Amino acid sequence: MLSRILIRFARFLGDQYKVDILLMKRYYKTVNINSAVKGDYGSVLVIYTGGTIGMDFDKETGSLMPFDFEKIMEKVPELKRFDFQLTVLSFTRLLDSSDISVSHWLELSRIIYDFYEDYDGFVILHGTDTMAYSASALSFLLENLAKPVIFTGAQLPIGASRTDARDNLVTALEIASAKTQGQALVPEVCIYFDHLLLRGNRAKKVQNFNFTAFESANYPALAVAGIHIEYNLSLTIPPSSATFKIHQKMEDRIAIVKLFPGVNAEMLKPIFNADNVQGIVLETFGSGNAPTSSWFLNMVRDSIDQGMHILNVSQCNGGSVSQGKYITSKYLDDLGVIGAGDMTFEAAVTKMMFVLGKGLPADVIKEQLMYPLSGEKS
Ligand code: ASP
Repeated sequence: MLSRILIRFARFLGDQYKVDILLMKRYYKTVNINSAVKGDYGSVLVIYTGGTIGMDFDKETGSLMPFDFEKIMEKVPELKRFDFQLTVLSFTRLLDSSDISVSHWLELSRIIYDFYEDYDGFVILHGTDTMAYSASALSFLLENLAKPVIFTGAQLPIGASRTDARDNLVTALEIASAKTQGQALVPEVCIYFDHLLLRGNRAKKVQNFNFTAFESANYPALAVAGIHIEYNLSLTIPPSSATFKIHQKMEDRIAIVKLFPGVNAEMLKPIFNADNVQGIVLETFGSGNAPTSSWFLNMVRDSIDQGMHILNVSQCNGGSVSQGKYITSKYLDDLGVIGAGDMTFEAAVTKMMFVLGKGLPADVIKEQLMYPLSGEKS
């Protein structure tokens, strides 16, 4: 608690970068893993938030519990062969990713901001369940990124014999430190999982049984890891030359409406009429289609008239919302619903939170929701 207050105080004073870093290191548990001399080699900061990847079997009880990263060399001896500096910073309370919230996204972006100059890349160890939301959120919160931020996790704990954690971690580290002519190879927020490097805000968890947990239906993989890591650099966002900055606000007063055949006014009224809801992500059918009943269209019209923003995202994983293709979506277009194009649901939710959090005029909010901000839509 005291460290937290001191961190805030140091930030308040302004140019207190070194004090800040020192206190951050004291507040979070940090472990220096690799002895490579900084300056000669690359360096990666691993931020451990929790999730299955960081679990090991307790010798006495046999139950899974969070793994102590000080012992990571025993579990992943491959790390000894890396010639870059590796630091692990651990969240004080390790989380199942179902407990991730907006405050954790702001915290992650703050950590990356505070250590941005000190490391060549960042790896975030995170539970798989909400990893696509967190990666999408960070893709918006981190602006003008010139370094990789790679999320990874595992389907089996790092302590299990057939674990996928080791491969995922080792390859994520390699990608986070990969450079060409002094520039990061993949300077964007990504998810690396089971051989695939995916743009974070294009990825989706699609499996809880196989190792292939993530998919990016509307954007090709940025790299495929086989014997070599084959990068597809024509698909990556080029490193920004503008000053890196972060955003520290997101609007969480948003709602999700998933349409289904049989949905009725009584069910939706409390959401559309709620005073504190600022925006709705509307999950529609096919290419963005919705019922044409007058109760539904009136509800949409009234809430937009009262200043609500509605983003139309498809229930299909692949393909795009195309308002106007069918008459069942043309009405939405005419009423001012914003088509999310080929955005994932996770990107749409976090983008809505991000854009509304900026406190912009209504027409600018609409424009920002409509156009790509960070490669999240085509
Ligand atoms: N429930 C876990 C989590 O998301 C699953 C995982 O780590 O894969 O934190």
